[in-house]
Amino acid sequence: MFAGYLRFADRCAVCGADFKAADAGDGPAVFVILVVGAVVAPLLIILQFGLHLPGWVALAATMAAAVGLCLALLPPFKALLFAFQWKHKAREATFEDIE
Ligand SMILES: [Zn+2]
Repeated sequence: MFAGYLRFADRCAVCGADFKAADAGDGPAVFVILVVGAVVAPLLIILQFGLHLPGWVALAATMAAAVGLCLALLPPFKALLFAFQWKHKAREATFEDIE
């Protein structure tokens, strides 16, 4: 479903469904920040105070892990949120939705 690292293809390669309206917005980034933060914050504490690594080593390793995890998790989370939008036919609200 992706044409680039985070860019959706114009249509589904299997069934031809139109992906042009696909927009998960900031949703994937929010979930990735929550997940990665929950992983790397304890990692920093363990590396610095559990393994007694020098501060800069622990920080560098934690930052590398944070960047790597974010880059690895963004595409699957973006695909997941788009799948939820597709399944529930989510779209921008209009005045017809109020009545
Ligand atoms: Zn399809």
